[in-house]
Amino acid sequence: MVDWEGPLTEAYERATTYLAGLPERRVGPRADAAELRASLGGALPDGPTEPREVVARLAAGVEDGLLPSGSGRFFGFVFGGATPASLAADWLTTAWDQNAGLYAASPAAAVVEEITARWLNELFGLPLGTSVGFVTGAQMANFTGLAAARHEVLRRAGWDVERQGLIGAPRVRVLAGAERHDTVDRALRFLGFGTDCIEPIAVDGQGRMRPDALAAVLRDDNAMLPTIVCAQVGNVNTGAFDSVREVCGPAHERGAWVHVDGTFGLWAAVSERLEGLVDGIELADSWATDAHKWLNVPYDSGLVFCAHPEAHRAAMSVRAAYLIQDEDGERDPLDYNPEFSRRARGIPVYAAIRALGRSGIAEIVDRCHAMAIRFAAALRDGGADVLNDVVLNQVLVRFGDDDAITRQVVKDVQDEGTCWMSGTTWQGRAAMRISVTNWTTGPDDIDRSAATVLKIRDQLIRD
Ligand SMILES: *Cc1c(COP(=O)(O)O)cnc(C)c1O
Repeated sequence: MVDWEGPLTEAYERATTYLAGLPERRVGPRADAAELRASLGGALPDGPTEPREVVARLAAGVEDGLLPSGSGRFFGFVFGGATPASLAADWLTTAWDQNAGLYAASPAAAVVEEITARWLNELFGLPLGTSVGFVTGAQMANFTGLAAARHEVLRRAGWDVERQGLIGAPRVRVLAGAERHDTVDRALRFLGFGTDCIEPIAVDGQGRMRPDALAAVLRDDNAMLPTIVCAQVGNVNTGAFDSVREVCGPAHERGAWVHVDGTFGLWAAVSERLEGLVDGIELADSWATDAHKWLNVPYDSGLVFCAHPEAHRAAMSVRAAYLIQDEDGERDPLDYNPEFSRRARGIPVYAAIRALGRSGIAEIVDRCHAMAIRFAAALRDGGADVLNDVVLNQVLVRFGDDDAITRQVVKDVQDEGTCWMSGTTWQGRAAMRISVTNWTTGPDDIDRSAATVLKIRDQLIRD
């Protein structure tokens, strides 16, 4: 008899202790790399160790090196935590260990993804029949959406990129806001375009692509080239939204494909209060978002959507004699993903949506937005400069109008441990970057964190 119970009980106990401790745990790692190497390292194991002991020692070894990003006072990057239903479903996904590539390899995983895809299309208000891929993150969602775009704009130019590649292909131009996320550039590298293909479009002070600048480029001498436009809803620093409607109008007039990086901003579509930010979102051709950020599904969980399923499939699909595939049969997830074998990533997303419902998701988005405004107001009242319009969940703060002081406040706050946020440089100026993305964050978290930040700023200026 295999002992599943021993190691799984150990894991359960360690996990619930960790999760229960999050609200009061120091928000920051307690060990450095050298200490972690000492607690986890040693020689290559010569022989076996009891599974339960492996789990116990692993958990003890990593404990001090964990960054408690699931805390309600974690405001770093744009992370998000994990909700109970999605976390539990994620455990089961691992226990079931399904290969979600093919319907034949897991009918359950394939059908769960199909249902979840339909729910997501409805949540975001995307066109009927929009195809969906469950990828690792927005990086791969941007990659997949842009692969579909590459297929389609070249097909219209009489070129089959999947067969002929890019050598000798018509030139493709990519127009993207100057404040796009780096994963767009990386996706374009992976796709063989290289970053030189990007023509950056001027942005305003919030990082929004200027529609007049885009329209001018779409009218220039290269206007007839196959064109992809990358828009963004939710700038990673300011949270600002490109106007998708104003981007899509002139872009589609020129036959361009519009891809939207909506990694966290797309979730505004679920909120009645904030949906105006994504006005015209349904007009785009492909969209990237994450479930592991604002939906608070455990890593990793990205989503790609495409209004042209045939382009999506042309870019991704695989046909092989040994795979059991039926042309008119059930949906094979690998036709929509760059991965082949993969975990059944749709299951935790399904559980998250089932547990929260539309109103529960909207409540998280609205509350994070309200908490971002509260944070900004508290810091502004305390004399700090808020550099952005807080339209969503992102707040950029600067102290003493000084790069060095601002960076030092960020570092000292991280060392102090009440809350955690990272720094950034926004249009040439150092800033503290606050992202309110965790499903548990409430007013007490904000008030405690804001008071700590201001106290640390005051100490720094006094010394
Ligand atoms: C986080 C982020 C990405 C990258 O997403 P991953 O899930 O980390 O791959 C892309 N674009 C924006 C706007 C983001 O915030």
